[in-house]
Amino acid sequence: MGIIEKMRLDGKKIFVTGGARGIGKSVAAAFAEAGADIAIVDVDIAEAKKTADELADAYGNRMLAIKADVTIPEEVHSMTEQVVGTFGRLDAAFCNAGICMNIPAEEMTFEQWKKVIDINLTGVFLTAQAAGRVMLRQGFGSIINTASMSAHIVNVPQPQCAYNASKAGVIQLTKSLAVEWAKRGVRVNSISPGYIGTELTLNSPSLKPLIEQWNDMAPMGRMGRPEELQSICVYLAGDTSTFTTGSDFVIDGAFTCF
Ligand code: NAD
Repeated sequence: MGIIEKMRLDGKKIFVTGGARGIGKSVAAAFAEAGADIAIVDVDIAEAKKTADELADAYGNRMLAIKADVTIPEEVHSMTEQVVGTFGRLDAAFCNAGICMNIPAEEMTFEQWKKVIDINLTGVFLTAQAAGRVMLRQGFGSIINTASMSAHIVNVPQPQCAYNASKAGVIQLTKSLAVEWAKRGVRVNSISPGYIGTELTLNSPSLKPLIEQWNDMAPMGRMGRPEELQSICVYLAGDTSTFTTGSDFVIDGAFTCF
């Protein structure tokens, strides 16, 4: 079998959190195009259903839309049960749901801090834990967590200490799980995107006005597109990345190089 054929995901079963839109939707589309059946998991169930229908129409694969808040352990657990109950197994999980808040540290309330950490870090832990439990039982599986270049640098000019701290936590969590599960067939990696054009950036009232400034700082002079994260995720979810675990992949058009 050739390398491209080996990279296909035919018949694989994958869930994607934050899959209704943005990076999650784009990566889910790539998984589907590569042959996988997908559960689109999101708090926004109306949008998740639309995405699942759109991908089912485009690729003909089995698609589920499941409402779950990644900060609520019971919802993450029952979402995982539903995926495995319907699909029979879980080959890969893309733990991707996340939010950003741009608030100066000295003005941030405890609730605001907690919300960002709960969704971005605790949410990834709960989701990876639920997926990991299934995969450890199976003896195989690949988990991909969405970190950010903000795990590596402090973005300017916007203040976002909780976001940056949460994403740095995602990388160390990823490495910890990778080491714990390395001998039991479960791989855990993260991606660290640079600025990507999604609702989170393009339509955020606090971030949108900064795009020109970011582009001036960016070696490539532009933001990334969600599609530019697809192939790394297909690689990580599939069977050509069997020696890849505990790694973080920075996809940022060289933004963090200097
Ligand atoms: P987005 O806002 O377009 O999409 C995020 C999705 O997550 C939404 O559908 C939302 O409903 C869902 N979501 C939010 N909270 C949730 C929760 N508690 N439980 C389940 N689902 C929830 O954002 P995006 O740009 O696609 O970002 C996706 C991930 O990529 C996030 O983790 C983000 O931090 C990360 N990221 C984004 C960028 C960027 O520039 N856009 C850069 C680096 C990393």
